[in-house]
Amino acid sequence: MDYQKIIHQIAEEAKKELGKGKIANYIPALANIPSDKFGIAIETIKGERYSFGDYDEPFSIQSISKVFTLMMAFTKENTKLWQRVDVEPSGNPFNSLVQLEFEAGIPRNPFINAGALVVTDILLDHYASPKASILDYVRRLSGSDDVYFDYEVAASEREFGYTNTALVNFLKSHKNIHNHIDKVLDVYFHQCSIRMSCQQLAHAFLTLANHGVHPDTKEQILSRSQAKRINAIMLTCGFYDQAGEFAFCVGMPGKSGVGGGIVAVIPEELAIAVWSPELNEHGNSKAGISVLEQFTTLTGLSIF
Ligand code: GLU
Repeated sequence: MDYQKIIHQIAEEAKKELGKGKIANYIPALANIPSDKFGIAIETIKGERYSFGDYDEPFSIQSISKVFTLMMAFTKENTKLWQRVDVEPSGNPFNSLVQLEFEAGIPRNPFINAGALVVTDILLDHYASPKASILDYVRRLSGSDDVYFDYEVAASEREFGYTNTALVNFLKSHKNIHNHIDKVLDVYFHQCSIRMSCQQLAHAFLTLANHGVHPDTKEQILSRSQAKRINAIMLTCGFYDQAGEFAFCVGMPGKSGVGGGIVAVIPEELAIAVWSPELNEHGNSKAGISVLEQFTTLTGLSIF
């Protein structure tokens, strides 16, 4: 398959979406990103790389970090994890307090903010320096030491993180947060602030496309079953309340973030990362969705 040719074709079409979405501005430090940034990176299990545009430029991965922290917590807790966070799609906004109230402090899934906060709390139980351990883990998966927190974004999230603060307090009142809420929020805001390029993200997600085996080191990072489960959660919960439509139109497990990044995988084949900061009304990158939709249409690839 000539992925390079396909990427160019897709990019031309997807660029028509530029100017039609909105950059996330509820985190003020994110609002300054030029809206015409646009990058695509594909990496196959065999190690072939294809790219387009700003594929090499780091951006704020935001909620994509929830996949990495879930992988870490799942490794530590295995199935015990599901006593504290469920695996059902939410169909509600990612920061909904209402849903959490109905469900008595057990978040619907690990990719809504409440679920990710519980996962972060679990990491605080297992790691003496969770921020450093998260960074190490992401560097290991992406095969690159050039991955950092963006302290300005983390501070901006802290300053304006009223809803996340409410969520963590509510979880704590239901005894589903064990550590001090300030510590949980601090780690959570830093993990969201991690900056990575499309190329680094595609490489990092290859482990999930490869049954949990790191493509370079051949290390079994997750068991085959764990990798399957994380892919299943990405498919059903990875795109806010647009996960159903994404599965319907694209058919790949993946995760998006309000920084405009999306990463998705075809198991046993490849990982693809896209970055375009303008979001649709669900919080997913507008051009990013277009790229992935065309990608599976033109290649005939999908998990179905
Ligand atoms: N740090 C963001 C928040 O907690 C993540 C949002 C996202 O990418 O979904 O609101």
